[in-house]
Formats: sequence, C-alpha cells, structure tokens
Amino acid sequence: MKQPMRVLVTAGPTREFIDPVRFISNLSTGNMGYALAKTAAKRGHKTVLVSGPVNIIPKKNIKIIKVNSCGDMFKAVKQHFDNSDCLVMAAAVSDFRPRQVGAHKLKKDKVLADGKINLVQNPDILLWAGRHKKAKVLAGFCMETQNLLKQARRKLKTKNADIIAANKISRHNPAFGSKPTTIYIVDKAGNTEKIGPKSKDKIASILLDKIETLWYKKSISAAW
Ligand code: C5P
Repeated sequence: MKQPMRVLVTAGPTREFIDPVRFISNLSTGNMGYALAKTAAKRGHKTVLVSGPVNIIPKKNIKIIKVNSCGDMFKAVKQHFDNSDCLVMAAAVSDFRPRQVGAHKLKKDKVLADGKINLVQNPDILLWAGRHKKAKVLAGFCMETQNLLKQARRKLKTKNADIIAANKISRHNPAFGSKPTTIYIVDKAGNTEKIGPKSKDKIASILLDKIETLWYKKSISAAW
C-alpha cells in the first residue's frame, strides 16, 4: 500500500432546531460518507468521521464524532482539519437555520399567526476549508435537480475544491439511500467523468483512488 493518509470525512444530514422537538433537515442517510470512511479505513488511512444523525453503525477502526447542527459539524471539522491530509464533505449540510431556537416547544397558534420562521445562513464549511486548505485535498458533493454539471463546476471553483462529486436528484437516480446511483466527478483539470449506476461502496472506492492520486501528486511536488 502507498503511504497512509489522514482522512477527514463528513456524513449525513444536519439538524437545525426550531425548538426542542422540531428541526429543519433533509433526506440524507449518510450512506455515501460512511462508505467513504469505511473504504479509507480499510485501506489503512487514519480516518475521522464527523457524522450527522443517521442509522448506521460505524466500523470500529474509524474515529467517530457525532454532531447535530452545521455549527457542531463546523466545530468538529475545524478541530481535526490541521491534522488531516484530505477532507471529504459528503454531508448534506443545511444551508440555513432558524434565527432563534425556542427554549420550549413553540405553540402552533403563535407560529401560525406569525406565518413564518426567520432563517439565517449557516457557515459554508467547504468554502472555509477551501480558503485554509494549503496542500490538502478537498472533495465536495453537489446534489441538484437541475443544471447539475454547471452547478458542480461553479462549486468546484468558488469553494476551491479539487473534486466535486455531482449527484442528480431525480425519480430515476436515487441519490439518497443505499441503492446504486450515478455520479459525475468534476475536477480542476476540467475533466468530467460519469460513474454508475454503481453501489456507494464502489463509488467510494473510485473517489478515494482519485483523492489518493491527487494527494500523492501534491506531496511529491511539496517535497521538491
Ligand atoms: O449546499 P451545496 O450544494 O453548496 O453543497 C456542496 C458542498 O458543500 C457539499 O460537499 C457540502 O457538504 C458542502 N457544504 C458545506 N457547508 C454548507 C453547505 C454545504 O460544507 N453550509
């Protein structure tokens, strides 16, 4: 095996609480991020997985940090970022959160009378990582219902990622869950590669091959 890397992966959805019993979230199951962490650990990479709330039992050789909100996930990523060689943001992070979290369960008549929940923007973890990455390899995901590749290329650039794995959400492509899916890998060299439909384990393996190649290239050029 090549030299092991220190791999930091995020997985699953985040939960942005409105009050103690209600939250804003999404359909992410964590399958992709857990497949990536499992494959990385199996290859001998030191693997840390920052996971939102999911129903998957992680393998024992993975350090797991469980989080709820984007804020918690950001804190955990920042804590482990300097000690990692790559970050794979497979989590479906909520782009917004309620401005205030009710200390008690909100009364429906009050919420309905207001007719709205005020939202504020969450920090973009991948964007932050792109600004601080130095020689690290950064991989992100992109899920869209339209203009998938255009959005993926835009995110690759704006977030300064090395790879974006783009996943179209449609009736024909189960992006969420454990079924085989199709992704497009977009990279900085301008390549777009279609992969699938394949299992998430197989996709994880292909993505890690690419991440390893990028990292070894970066470490060789840093050594010169
Ligand atoms: O939400 P968006 O389509 O921009 O997500 C693309 C990538 O950015 C994903 O890899 C996701 O994990 C990451 N992201 C993030 N922080 C956010 C939103 C998304 O790191 N607040």
